[in-house]
Amino acid sequence: TAKIIVLDPKAKFSKMGLFTAGWEKHYSGMVEWIGPEAHGGIKSVNHETMEIVTDLDTFKADAACVIPAMRAGVIAQNAGVTDGDWAPIIPATMASKADPNIYVLGDASVASAMPKSGFSANSQAKVAANAIRGELTGSRVYDARFANTCWSLIATNDGVKVGANYKAGSEKIDVVDKFVSQGNESSEVRKTTYEESIGWYSGITTDMFS
Ligand SMILES: Cc1cc2nc3c(=O)[nH]c(=O)nc-3n(C[C@H](O)[C@H](O)[C@H](O)COP(=O)(O)OP(=O)(O)OC[C@H]3O[C@@H](n4cnc5c(N)ncnc54)[C@H](O)[C@@H]3O)c2cc1C
Repeated sequence: TAKIIVLDPKAKFSKMGLFTAGWEKHYSGMVEWIGPEAHGGIKSVNHETMEIVTDLDTFKADAACVIPAMRAGVIAQNAGVTDGDWAPIIPATMASKADPNIYVLGDASVASAMPKSGFSANSQAKVAANAIRGELTGSRVYDARFANTCWSLIATNDGVKVGANYKAGSEKIDVVDKFVSQGNESSEVRKTTYEESIGWYSGITTDMFS
């Protein structure tokens, strides 16, 4: 039987309990998540032998997806708006803390409590657009409100989600309220959650491209 091994550099991940329970329920014994305390970090990747070396073991894969550490694009670094890997912003406007004439949103920004997601980026874009319009035309700039939901489909019709609403604090984006799927939900609730994600995708693509 095929097996998926996750060599995670982080000790925990979003919706961890929901995923772990879902893997056990739908793919028992097929998904093995190994945290950094156990594997000690990836020491090397050999694409010719398909071997991934860690302190724990050398894993030989038929297919491997190696994700390097991420950071804001070179353009952001060259513009001087990054501090370390990411770009700090003023929460009320998404303007760069380093240069108020540059707005940074989405994955490149330090949006504190908000996760890096397409939903977050779209929400931050609206705040930035509102601020830029106000700056250019003197029109009213509404208080920044942000939202995010991340849906995950564990198996057919078994959807889970985590999300929150946010507001601009003086130094960072703060959580107003939040929600997460529960471990004991009925299959009807999980199906509804999955259907919500399809509705969200349809809505956000229409919002962006039409
Ligand atoms: C596997 C995976 C699944 C995901 N699933 C979801 C999901 O279900 N829901 C969700 O909300 N989010 C999801 N995300 C996260 C989401 O994709 C990102 O958070 C989102 O794309 C960030 O948007 P962004 O515009 O900030 O950055 P990007 O989407 O990274 O866009 C930046 C763009 O800038 C371009 N660029 C870089 N340098 C230059 C330059 N010098 N000149 C011109 N262009 C340049 C890049 O080519 C890129 O197209 C997922 C991500 C991954 C990897």
